[in-house]
Amino acid sequence: MTYPQTAANPAKWLLLAAALAVPNLAFAHSEAEELQEITAFFAGAQLVEPPKIVDCTLSAGTKTRCFSVTVKAEPAGYTPGPWCPTNIADGAEKAGIWLDGGKVFAADGAFMEKLADFYEDKEWSIFDPETGKINVTDSLEACLAAARPDVDPKYNNFCVQCLPEYIADDVTQTYVIPIDPQPLIIGRDNRMAGSGIAANGVRLDAPAPVDAILGAHTIAPFDKCGGHVNPHEGYHYHAVTDCLETPAGAQPQQIGIAMDGYAILTNLLADGAAPEGLDRCNGHEGEGLAYHYHAGEVGSNAILGCLSAEYGCHSDDPTAVCDASVPPKRP
Ligand SMILES: [Zn+2]
Ligand SMILES: [Zn+2]
Repeated sequence: MTYPQTAANPAKWLLLAAALAVPNLAFAHSEAEELQEITAFFAGAQLVEPPKIVDCTLSAGTKTRCFSVTVKAEPAGYTPGPWCPTNIADGAEKAGIWLDGGKVFAADGAFMEKLADFYEDKEWSIFDPETGKINVTDSLEACLAAARPDVDPKYNNFCVQCLPEYIADDVTQTYVIPIDPQPLIIGRDNRMAGSGIAANGVRLDAPAPVDAILGAHTIAPFDKCGGHVNPHEGYHYHAVTDCLETPAGAQPQQIGIAMDGYAILTNLLADGAAPEGLDRCNGHEGEGLAYHYHAGEVGSNAILGCLSAEYGCHSDDPTAVCDASVPPKRP
């Protein structure tokens, strides 16, 4: 904004500046409060840059104010893993979990041994019948080749795991999320499955592409916290488990923030009851709170069904200006 340069009438200029300063100050005060709350919410995250307030353009073109936070994609509170057992004799303590049909299974040696029966498909042969040794990806190259959408045939019948040490040290994740959610006009497609960020800085991801994974006779377990590693995006969740905590000062049961700015609460309420009247995005106005989501059940492979409002940006470039209305460039 440029103030009128009426040097001939400085008194008038001062009056105008004073009038403008009042709403501006009020605005700044409320943003400072928002920033304080957001900073407190992410106190347990591995912050690369502390949260700040920025201009942003949301998915349906609304220009508004967002918070931006840059994190390392790994939890501070625990060591991720394990994922793949190495032998069919390995118990659940040496393995992660698998999610199928709404249920949670220990991805232990016994589960790997009976995959052909479990999926009624004789082409599963993920272990050596002589020794019981399970085929497990054991390098960055192997994990990249096995985890890509068109799985390298060399890695058919493998248990796929990418280890946290494969993530380059300079990989960061930046989230730009609206402070005030901008609800979508009904019927407008938001083009994105629901996702967000947990208070510990880890991505709450869209459903894992289980059909594509199983189609190549590969299995990519999650650890007991519902997470696994992708070398590009780091450690991320496909389920909300009791590993996730509510930070002090947050809404009761809040474990994260969706990409559209609404709060994500645990699957069940504090008293163990299921929330009522959820919409197709797992959201509702309930428990005396404004609109919010509840994470799906652990076994559902869907933390959120969809997003109800315009979303912001998730990127590996901390300097990028968020314009979510531009479709992502495909390589
Ligand atoms: Zn994943
Ligand atoms: Zn609720």
